[in-house]
Amino acid sequence: AKYTKKDIIQMVEDDDVEFIRLQFTDIFGALKNVAITASQIEKVLDNGCMFDGSSIEGFARIEESDMYLVPDLNTFEIFPWRPQQGKVARLICDVYKPNGEPFEGDPRYILKKVIKEADAMGYTFNVGPELEFFLFHTDDYGMPTTETHEKGGYFDLGPIDLGENARRDMVLTLEEMGFEIEASHHEVAPAQHEIDFKYTDALHTADNIETFKLVVKSIAKRHGLHASFMPKPVYGVPGSGMHINMSLDDQDGNNIFGDPNDENGLSKEAYYFLAGLLKHAKGLMALTNPLVNSYKRLVPGYEAPVHIAWSSINRSPLIRIPATRGTGRRIELRSPDPAGNPYLVLAACLAAGLEGLKEKKMPMPNVDKNIFEMTAAEKAAESIEELPLNLFDAVKELEADQYICDTLGKHASSKYIEAKYAEWDEYRRQITNWEIDQYLYKI
Ligand code: GLN
Ligand code: MG
Ligand code: MG
Ligand code: MG
Repeated sequence: AKYTKKDIIQMVEDDDVEFIRLQFTDIFGALKNVAITASQIEKVLDNGCMFDGSSIEGFARIEESDMYLVPDLNTFEIFPWRPQQGKVARLICDVYKPNGEPFEGDPRYILKKVIKEADAMGYTFNVGPELEFFLFHTDDYGMPTTETHEKGGYFDLGPIDLGENARRDMVLTLEEMGFEIEASHHEVAPAQHEIDFKYTDALHTADNIETFKLVVKSIAKRHGLHASFMPKPVYGVPGSGMHINMSLDDQDGNNIFGDPNDENGLSKEAYYFLAGLLKHAKGLMALTNPLVNSYKRLVPGYEAPVHIAWSSINRSPLIRIPATRGTGRRIELRSPDPAGNPYLVLAACLAAGLEGLKEKKMPMPNVDKNIFEMTAAEKAAESIEELPLNLFDAVKELEADQYICDTLGKHASSKYIEAKYAEWDEYRRQITNWEIDQYLYKI
């Protein structure tokens, strides 16, 4: 462990921290927090902090709603963008029930459970995400719009890239909070950006993803911009993905996904893991792509996957094997978008991979052709299926995937599925502008 209780109390005192935010996430990945003042820190470190679980999406029923936040001491960080006198710090927390047991619907607990299973098999799951987002203007009332005046494209730089200063500030802030930033660049669409941070074990990556979104949004706001992780905010340009790069280390900390003698540079373990991901490709979607809007990104023409296949060459399939050899050997899952709950997404991906490792089956052969140019018959011949087309189909697939539901546990899976069906039901009643444009005059 990085810090003891004493360390935390000392840091709060030495750094003039006045507020400590106790953070956790609901089952949809929304970051929640309650602030305590420095005077309460000792008490909270000893006893946790009680809160009303019934007010949190997907948590408890009213009758059994008292829950406790128990800080993970290693997650102590100061927010660099808040006032420097009377500073604000945060601690990411685990959620416990009054009887002292972990709350089985806490996404962080669900991820920890699968990590433990991997650990028992001798593996550490390493994950490096690539988050994309848009920086839009706000209107006269400060409300977000989907407008931008910038015309930047992939890897462009200033003065075309108006978001450049904001992005620079984001990178510096993230670094101050302990992130190692590997790359940041303008993405393909106007106003679209990507910042990549270094991979680490899955629990810390999930924590980092939550922190990353908070930092990006907070810094954008300081620059008068609105940062959005919505998967497809603008018609006709690429959406925002969150590619997930995965690998496994053995107990000595060596990446076991590489094999220089294999034609794709992959070890047996990597193939089995890949097979597990492919097996559960459909069942994972409601987690990795959780919104009605997520499925508007997964259409041909925008570097987002549509088909269930893998390749070491092209970027159209669901899974790509990046060219890096040796210790950087990894599998890149390209379907996820930044709207997912990172704890549940990584829990489900790891569980799928572990099942592959237990079953020891080879995946379907790789597809190095452009799948969009293949006929239906050619696709069928290679068993290339399509990903679910919309949230409804994806939720049905999740419901049918007992293994992924078991990974989430009864509480989270039932709450999640129920809420996502409700979201779809609300959506399907809407009359969209597209329909009015298409039909009102003609019909
Ligand atoms: N924006 C693309 C997506 O939707 C990815 C583009 C890229 O990083 N190559 O996933
Ligand atoms: Mg990238
Ligand atoms: Mg990208
Ligand atoms: Mg990528």
